Amino acid sequence: MENFICVQCGTQFSEAVTPPLHCPICEDERQFVRHSGQEWTTLKRLGTDHRNRFEEEAPHLLGIGTEPEFAIGQRALLVQSPSGNLLWDCITLLDNITIEEVNEHGGIRAIAISHPHFYTTMVEWAERFDAQILLHAADREYVVRKSPRIQFWEGTTLTLWDDLTLINCGGHFEGGTVLHWPAGSNGKGALLTGDIITVVQDRRYVSFMRSYPNLIPLGAAAIHRILNAIEPFPFDQIYGAWWGANVLSNAKDAVRSSAQRYLRWIRS
Ligand SMILES: [Zn+2]
Ligand SMILES: [Zn+2]
Repeated sequence: MENFICVQCGTQFSEAVTPPLHCPICEDERQFVRHSGQEWTTLKRLGTDHRNRFEEEAPHLLGIGTEPEFAIGQRALLVQSPSGNLLWDCITLLDNITIEEVNEHGGIRAIAISHPHFYTTMVEWAERFDAQILLHAADREYVVRKSPRIQFWEGTTLTLWDDLTLINCGGHFEGGTVLHWPAGSNGKGALLTGDIITVVQDRRYVSFMRSYPNLIPLGAAAIHRILNAIEPFPFDQIYGAWWGANVLSNAKDAVRSSAQRYLRWIRS
């Protein structure tokens, strides 16, 4: 029996003798099956030619990403908070070096994930660090490895310890979630967004899409829902899904002006 991993999106499935026939995350219109067809790997095999890189994206915010790049290529963020660490988003590769590094930074109290593209091997991480996984219930159908460690939450916000707050924005996925980290940016607040609010190449701006690889935009109602969901929260910075994809000042204004620009172009 193996927990097979989809090479295209990095998602790990429930134990089986043979690889799954389909990956529902890749077959969804927001992602794609690789041109050469579906391929599978395992955590053990992945560990033979990949390593994780650890780098502080900011004080108390450790980035963890895989080299060479694997699947969607995101990096996770370990938010180090006085009452316990939160792993924001997840990556597929979990090896002994990573376990040591994370434990040196205080371990993981809970894992929260923005949307199904980053579910990856969340159950492995949760078991290894004795952590809980917090997922928005609206995306429950995309969980392909069930676990009692997964706790589904509903509604618009979920406040955790130290005023860390999960905010459901929808958009890219119905359960699309961002994390408000009030201690971030020297107490001015930061938002960790995955690609629910994505930081674009011009890092004065962000954008919002139903599908990034297939270029499916969102409508005006979805943009307003995102803006309304984050409005009550003060923040000066945004940390996106990839290394360096961060807005490092005036991030709330950046979201507002990016949304105005987006709405102007989908209307014209
Ligand atoms: Zn997949
Ligand atoms: Zn995505």
